[in-house]
Amino acid sequence: MRGSLRLLQVAGIDIKVHFTFPLILLLGAFDWGSKYGASGAAFGALLMLALFVCVVLHELGHSLVAQRFGIPVREIVLLPIGGVAMLGKMPRKPVQELLIAIAGPLVNVVLAIGLVFALGVRGDLPLDGSGLLALSKAAPSVETLLQWLLAANVSLFVFNLIPAFPMDGGRILRAVLAMFLGFSRGTKIAAGVGQVLALGLGLYAIFNGQILLALVAAFVFMGAGQERAVEEARTLLSTLRLGDAYNKHALTLAPGDSVHRVIDYLLTSYQPDFAVVLGGRLLGVVTRDAVLQALAAGTDDNYVTGIMNREILRLEAGLSLAEAREKLAELGVPVAAVFEGEHYLGLVNQEDINEALHIAAFLRIAQERKAGSLFAA
Ligand SMILES: [Zn+2]
Repeated sequence: MRGSLRLLQVAGIDIKVHFTFPLILLLGAFDWGSKYGASGAAFGALLMLALFVCVVLHELGHSLVAQRFGIPVREIVLLPIGGVAMLGKMPRKPVQELLIAIAGPLVNVVLAIGLVFALGVRGDLPLDGSGLLALSKAAPSVETLLQWLLAANVSLFVFNLIPAFPMDGGRILRAVLAMFLGFSRGTKIAAGVGQVLALGLGLYAIFNGQILLALVAAFVFMGAGQERAVEEARTLLSTLRLGDAYNKHALTLAPGDSVHRVIDYLLTSYQPDFAVVLGGRLLGVVTRDAVLQALAAGTDDNYVTGIMNREILRLEAGLSLAEAREKLAELGVPVAAVFEGEHYLGLVNQEDINEALHIAAFLRIAQERKAGSLFAA
């Protein structure tokens, strides 16, 4: 994610903080500082740090299970509103999604049990819950820290199990439905349930004047819609083939062309990548970045063969766009070569795939309109 800084790496996963993250520390410091002065402010910031350690562990719970299923995890980013684990692709088996989704909240259960144990050992266990309720008035102490974290982990567990996207509960519900109804219908129903819940929550919030809660409801409502859109796009992408999406009118280069020629092409076309072809055979690909690097290094007088990338991902023309998109995202490569057997067809990048999807979506709407107007007539 842009604007985030790497803190550390765990199991090959970068853990990053977004530049807006310190806001939550300030908020904690302000909240406790207004009651207990400077030491209160330090305590408030410490509480928020401890909370986000729990959030990282929650996200690591999702991530480590995902890795077990061979799903690459790119990074975990901490935002003031919580953490996000970026998975390289979506788990396609409902059981996998279920286990990945459930692992996060389970981490909070384990943490809560650990905190109850620690409080018990110290003799500070709020057995009747009154200790938890009085938290907002408690003075900074180790006891308050442990009790506050216990309450926070219980809240994280409960909040995440709300069966609405983008919460873990929404994914759990979709995974269970998908086992019986398939992925597409499961997503539709789970998104519907999430939107009904969000609507109810939103109405409750508005009637009770709770603006923050109303915002959360709006966020959940949009999250559900987005998940449905992603799934619809995926269904559409899986019906289209890569052979329909690659750029058939691309400019190509010959091995004897100079880098200057590519610069001319870059200036006069929107094409970002150029195949170097000899007798219909693909030798390599020159990317815009490689050209810019050559320009910066002053080696733009060279031949294109000097700056072309020879190791290009090969994709079969019969592959669906969904599979192609997943492959590109998984390997983190910007461009791939499309082949039909041994015959090179052209290059395809993420944007070509998105463009094909965009047009296909319009075509479908147009067809539905036609069918609709026929019915009306
Ligand atoms: Zn989660």
